[in-house]
Amino acid sequence: MHFVGFHPAYKYTDVGRTDLATLENARVIAQQKGMSYVYLGNTYEANLNDTNCSKCGATLVERYGLQANIVNLDDHSNCTECNQPSPIQFPLLASQQQESTQSENVDLKHKFEIQWNEECQSAHVLQSVGTGFKDTLRIRSLGTNRVMDKSLANGLDRFIISRQSIDEMGVIVSWDSSAQYENIALLDRAHFPTSPEEQPISLAAL
Ligand SMILES: [Zn+2]
Repeated sequence: MHFVGFHPAYKYTDVGRTDLATLENARVIAQQKGMSYVYLGNTYEANLNDTNCSKCGATLVERYGLQANIVNLDDHSNCTECNQPSPIQFPLLASQQQESTQSENVDLKHKFEIQWNEECQSAHVLQSVGTGFKDTLRIRSLGTNRVMDKSLANGLDRFIISRQSIDEMGVIVSWDSSAQYENIALLDRAHFPTSPEEQPISLAAL
């Protein structure tokens, strides 16, 4: 179970954001009622987004933004600290993206920058001309050493990118092909742009 904070968007803008204390309180109530694996979504606060072992409290799934990493689980989904079984399914591993090596820490021919801020910690990157052009884009983190190559294939023309850690200030997205890309900022970690007024941002090449 996870609790996700409301944020004002589209036609429902006269109500404020859910504050963190309300979400934390909901989590505590659920735990007191006997729920296991209760965590918060779209908060970007350390530890509150994680799934913990129901017996010993060890972190089993570590989350930040849209990133989820399995830790302290063996191949049978048991806690490696206390051997408690968990219902966590491993297909999650299949969605983990491949990170390229440090030696490829060089931007490609075309690029744009996305800066993270309190309102925007994820964005859609999409092909603005044509659709489903098979391509590889490089995502270089600003503020950390992470570099990731992301492939677009099988008709996909967009992907979502999100802030990976608190020390990541933004990303540089770069590519070599003749395809054109734009990005659309997303509020919190909503999967789709929620406002009709939203326009692509930061399109100028650096
Ligand atoms: Zn445990």
